[in-house]
Amino acid sequence: MADRQALLDRQDPLDRQDPLDRQAPLFGRVAIVGIGLIGSSLARAIARAGLAGEIAIADRNAAALARAEALGLGTSYHATAAEAAKSADLVIACVPVGACGPVAAEIAPVLSATAIVSDVGSVKGSVIRQMAPLLPNPRRLVPAHPVAGTEHSGPDAGFAELFDNRWCILTPPDDAEADAVEKVAALWKGCGANVEVMTSDHHDLVLAITSHLPHLIAYNIVGTAADLEQVTQSEVIKFSAGGFRDFTRIAASDPTMWRDVFLHNKDAVLEVLGRFSEDLAALQRAIRWGDGEQLFDVFTRTRAIRRGIIEAGQDTASPDFGRRPAVDAAPAPTEPPVKAAKAS
Ligand code: NAP
Repeated sequence: MADRQALLDRQDPLDRQDPLDRQAPLFGRVAIVGIGLIGSSLARAIARAGLAGEIAIADRNAAALARAEALGLGTSYHATAAEAAKSADLVIACVPVGACGPVAAEIAPVLSATAIVSDVGSVKGSVIRQMAPLLPNPRRLVPAHPVAGTEHSGPDAGFAELFDNRWCILTPPDDAEADAVEKVAALWKGCGANVEVMTSDHHDLVLAITSHLPHLIAYNIVGTAADLEQVTQSEVIKFSAGGFRDFTRIAASDPTMWRDVFLHNKDAVLEVLGRFSEDLAALQRAIRWGDGEQLFDVFTRTRAIRRGIIEAGQDTASPDFGRRPAVDAAPAPTEPPVKAAKAS
């Protein structure tokens, strides 16, 4: 568990109240809709810091819901989002981006006048377009994206430390109510994250290059390797100790989540994919013409970027690409951390 003082040191001075010493929690009732990797990590982090009086959990997947109950992740468990959202002060949709609209439609009739609605989706413009028109008070919609995750899914895969010292980006629309934005920011700080606010358009462009394109490349390179006639399945496994191994880890990410990311961030991904293809063609040309100087220059620049990421504390210099601390921090799952079987 993260050191409590370190957690507090990361908070703004105004928020530097020990969440564990609060007289009253930040929220009375928080509803978490979707208890997968992110929803279950959030439930654990909220409980760790005592940020909510009640944590109402909903999931359409009966197996995931039962697992959440067995793990004791909440205070109540519901088969529908509407049941969990009833009398909630904050409802957080922790579902794939394409399911945010249906969740908004389901909770809208039961939301109180002061309820705040948020999400954790990896795309923000589409979430606002889907949810805002359906909500009774769209000015209390505060979209959020914790830039933290793993390739695993389901309630067993989550852990309270997932957001510690990671960024959480909030993309409130211009007319969002200030108290709602402040409370969602305080929640994420209490969960250990550093909070940044930006527009949804800016978020979607930045994440297209830093997260979405890398996943697309990983899915593609692993698919290409598997298709190559000369590279047999066993050779892919046998020689995957090199850079390929890290691509296979990324390419193991949840297909539903990533399908939705590409369908809902289409414009920004196509924009950066165009730039990427041009730069790749330039490297291809340098290799063809034996232009070692250009290759050396590009590789020197990228090496400096990697060092900058390590210096910023967003990764470690260990040869496992910084994975081990997160894995060690996670409680050992009782079963392999795969997604709970879908309810029929
Ligand atoms: P996950 O582990 O697959 O869990 C999602 C859960 O939501 C599943 O149990 C799913 O049930 C349930 N669900 C789907 N539609 C629902 C609905 N309409 N009502 C109620 N429950 C529903 O997913 P995750 O990795 O936590 O991702 C959740 C969100 O976080 C996504 O928007 C993703 O973009 C974002 N995010 C993910 C990461 C990451 O690394 N994974 C990082 C940052 C943000 P079924 O199994 O029946 O579909």
